[in-house]
Amino acid sequence: MNQKNKSGEVWEHLSIIKLGGSVITDKSVPFRARKGDIDRLAREIAGILPEIDYRLIIVHGGGSYGHPVAAKYKIKEGVCEGDFSTLLRQRLGFTQTKKAMIELNSIIVDSFLRANVPVVPIPPSAISITKNERISSFDTAALYRALKGGFIPLLHGDPVFDEEKGFTILSGDQIVSYLARIMGVERVLIGTDVDGLYTEDPKINPDAKPVDILKYSHDYEAVLAKLTRDKERVKVEKIFIDVTDQMIGKISEIIDIWKRGIEIIIFNARKPNYLTRIFRNEKVPCTRLID
Ligand code: ADP
Repeated sequence: MNQKNKSGEVWEHLSIIKLGGSVITDKSVPFRARKGDIDRLAREIAGILPEIDYRLIIVHGGGSYGHPVAAKYKIKEGVCEGDFSTLLRQRLGFTQTKKAMIELNSIIVDSFLRANVPVVPIPPSAISITKNERISSFDTAALYRALKGGFIPLLHGDPVFDEEKGFTILSGDQIVSYLARIMGVERVLIGTDVDGLYTEDPKINPDAKPVDILKYSHDYEAVLAKLTRDKERVKVEKIFIDVTDQMIGKISEIIDIWKRGIEIIIFNARKPNYLTRIFRNEKVPCTRLID
């Protein structure tokens, strides 16, 4: 599929890989990166890059780096009320969250360097602004230049400035969805720590059934019906796919790009060679959301 991006350029076969926080970190232990998995994924990506002509953007989550710090200082909720010292404490919390993401990003960059992958970290906090937690501006100029120059842009969930709330957290999932829309991306691979979408959270119910394929024309209304927006929160009814808090944001972001005909694959990036096999169109247990 050829798609014209916002700047009028045509990019063929551009893909985005999302490396979920659950893949690159152990979410149960603050500041624990899964260095073995990151190294392996860097090597897998190095292997497929020549096959996809270096047309790739990578976005990673915050996992046990960004999340606990952001939660401690309530960064997602925006600027709190209080006296100067309260406000200063929260601002320092914003900086701490930023630093945690820089640390995780730096570990990832090291792995990619060892695998000879020319990633270029592009921090969303410096190029984007949100309004009530949704992206209102995002400067993609450096991304296009990087891609043209044969680099792999590497972005991540980040604390960002927000027009209404002062600041907030911009999730990796929202970045993926936004870039997929505006950059004419052909395929989005969402790597997490389970084999795709299940009828229920497979970690809570081991009998949950995997969902292999969701066809837009056939399943869109059904999936959409499970997601009802109530102001900023998304509620999911227990009918077809039961999704807990963790998956809710992901699914609502995905819905937005699925309806535009972009192929989305949710897969287990903790399993060796799944990423490689997906790129080579080999059969892997995963969920495909197709046109
Ligand atoms: P990541 O950090 O990889 O971006 P999250 O941890 O936010 O991903 O979400 C993935 C988790 O969502 C899985 O580990 C799984 O336990 C949970 N989950 C909840 N509901 C579902 C579902 N219906 N299908 C698959 N996973 C689900």
